[in-house]
Amino acid sequence: MPIQSRMPALFIGHGNPMNAITDNHWSRAFQSLGQELPTPKAVLAISAHWYVPGTFTTGNDQPETIHDFGGFPRELFQVQYPAPGETQLAKEVVDLLGKHGAAVRFDWGLDHGTWSVLCHMMPKADIPVIQLSIDRDLPFTEYAEIGRAISGLREEGVMIIGSGNITHNLRDAFSRMTSGDGATPDWARAFDEDVASAITQHDVTFLSRASETQSGRISHPTWDHYVPLLYVMGAVGQAEEVRFPITGFDMGSLSMRAALFG
Ligand code: ZN
Repeated sequence: MPIQSRMPALFIGHGNPMNAITDNHWSRAFQSLGQELPTPKAVLAISAHWYVPGTFTTGNDQPETIHDFGGFPRELFQVQYPAPGETQLAKEVVDLLGKHGAAVRFDWGLDHGTWSVLCHMMPKADIPVIQLSIDRDLPFTEYAEIGRAISGLREEGVMIIGSGNITHNLRDAFSRMTSGDGATPDWARAFDEDVASAITQHDVTFLSRASETQSGRISHPTWDHYVPLLYVMGAVGQAEEVRFPITGFDMGSLSMRAALFG
């Protein structure tokens, strides 16, 4: 496909890392989504799994595939996603984030929040990918500000992808998987729907205060999988069209909703 001047921005629910090596509803949905998207010049990924004190970009020319999990089959540890990096872009992002005190780092690569979806969406691994860390110490309102500061990259052909999950209570999800109870609890459905409607209305104020809601607190014992959405919301305009190419729940309570802008 031709290179499009302004790249869409995407929030994607990555879910279970096993989606990387499993042919299932979700991995097929990632593949279909990849096929309908324009080809970017590069990808900037904000993964729930690089949740650290500080804002950093990955500067490596050949970022390592990081297997940042335990207790999964060996086959998953053997997955490699050999996309190149782009040092220049990593530096440009740091420049754009001047007042946020960002820095380029060389001790991180692509974690599974990024590669478990890109291995389906961009299976050739020929498009440069850099990651932007989530500064876990920032107030939620600043995540959208960082997104806004880098939004111009979309005009340069960079696709901004936030990867997390709109609901992510793993203790609940695993207990449902173990017990065979695939029912979606009310709190998960309520939070997923409230967030979806706020996304549609571009209500960043609501989205930045989601941690104050009861359904939000149950949905996110920690907020790492939610906040990639806030970066993406900052990177898109009020008037941009949004749709949800993937919806539904895995393991009962894990929202797999994706939001595609532009
Ligand atoms: Zn995850």
